[in-house]
Amino acid sequence: MSEPKYKRVVLKLSGEALAGNTGFGINPPTIEEIVKEIKEVHDLGVQIAIVVGGGNIWRGTTGAEMGMERAQADYMGMLATVMNSLALQDALENNGVPTRVQTSIEMRQIAEQYIRRRAVRHLEKGRVVIFAGGTGNPYFSTDTTAALRAAEINADVILMAKNNVDGVYSADPMKDLTATKFTELTHLDVISKGLQVMDSTASSLSMDNDIPLVVFNLNKHGNIRRVIMGEDIGTTVRGK
Ligand code: UDP
Repeated sequence: MSEPKYKRVVLKLSGEALAGNTGFGINPPTIEEIVKEIKEVHDLGVQIAIVVGGGNIWRGTTGAEMGMERAQADYMGMLATVMNSLALQDALENNGVPTRVQTSIEMRQIAEQYIRRRAVRHLEKGRVVIFAGGTGNPYFSTDTTAALRAAEINADVILMAKNNVDGVYSADPMKDLTATKFTELTHLDVISKGLQVMDSTASSLSMDNDIPLVVFNLNKHGNIRRVIMGEDIGTTVRGK
């Protein structure tokens, strides 16, 4: 059997990925589907860290638009990512995958605090590490968290799992029939063309630290494995 292309990965899941059809809240059967796929690659010996978003519960910008102080609303968003992380942990462990949740904001009754060296040790021991709480700072996103943690733990790649889009397009494929899919891009392309991949802070951090990412469709069964085995699905973003 061929070897996985990537040995240590950061899987970025949006909050929406955990929500099922409604796009809101936490839907355990949907999480179960994702977890089965994570287990498949875990069984191949791939070291997996997960960064999960919180948009299925709360986004800081939504609160700010309704008159809340942005930083306060962002802290609520960070707490939303913790709920998602605990749901993922529960499903992974029910499937026999050992895990640790590490939070960037201390919550020691429910999770470890983020300690880089400890996270790496867990990965080496075959535990899936879920990074909760984003960066711990308002005005950032969980995409930026994925780029930051990937740099810190020397991940080979960030796997950007998207809902129902199979890569990066020149325009929104739902709205523009002439939209074409890119197979390869540079981080600079993403920034200069304003492509919807990650926010610009996350893109520049990935560029400066030379972290490749693969954007792919999470909703097609088996895709996490395909990406990890090096199949050319989705869009790869690398280099300057
Ligand atoms: N957030 C934050 N700092 C971080 C990461 C997240 O303030 O480092 C907040 C922010 O309000 C954001 C929310 O948490 O809107 C949920 O994260 P995100 O929008 O990245 O989730 P996703 O879109 O991936 O579901």
